[in-house]
Amino acid sequence: MTTTNWLIATDLDGTLLDDSYPYLDAARVVDEIQQNHPSTVALASSKTLTEMLELAQCAGHRPFLIFENGGGVSWPQGVLRQPGERRVNGYEVTLLGGDIADVLSALIQARAQHGFQFERFSELSDQRIADITHLPLDNVAPARQRLTSEPVLWQDTPERQQTFVEAMAAANLTVTQGGRFLHVGRGANKARAVKYLRRKICYERGERPRVLACGDAPNDLEMINSADLALLFPGRDGRYLHATDNKHAHAPKAGPSHWLQGVQHIFAIA
Ligand SMILES: [Mg+2]
Repeated sequence: MTTTNWLIATDLDGTLLDDSYPYLDAARVVDEIQQNHPSTVALASSKTLTEMLELAQCAGHRPFLIFENGGGVSWPQGVLRQPGERRVNGYEVTLLGGDIADVLSALIQARAQHGFQFERFSELSDQRIADITHLPLDNVAPARQRLTSEPVLWQDTPERQQTFVEAMAAANLTVTQGGRFLHVGRGANKARAVKYLRRKICYERGERPRVLACGDAPNDLEMINSADLALLFPGRDGRYLHATDNKHAHAPKAGPSHWLQGVQHIFAIA
């Protein structure tokens, strides 16, 4: 049986969330869209699983999760027949990237070899993380619980960044530019994680959902380019990602209410 169905893959920071981190409002609009349109929402973020579960558990219709930029995926227990590799707080979890221990040792080695100037997320104090990310101090501990990738605060020249990317590639790792950090992990990205979840939904439910991607930063670009529809949010510099060939719309700013209006608008014109 064919059903018109959407997989809404959405970034969090700078997209569904603004700098006040309105988790309850975000959960409410995620519920609202899933109630009023045949759709499944997948939150797709550079955040950790622990951070994302906090938001997801505020929602009545629990969303799918793509955490650490696609390094891992998670879905509410019971919504798909197949289990994940592990279970955490009512969610099935599967890692698509490698283990974080490999990433950390590659970063330590690259710094020793090339003298790159950067700070690893795990080296930053709670206060610095709060200052840089605008996270409330209480939310820093969940942000540290990383499973598969490490954000890096780049403090070297832009030219040396290319050498860094090459050094990471030699260790089989990829570097993705986020809003504030470079994210280092094993070949995982949001687009690949969306495809993985879509395939799972197709296989298990016999649905072939179309994909609406929502995002603001370069780490969303591949997910946006490979989607059927896109809702673009302005980046920190106020500029939008380049328009793509697929049908897209622009939201004026980040946050739950703009996100909901944007998604409803693009469904209306699709
Ligand atoms: Mg973002």
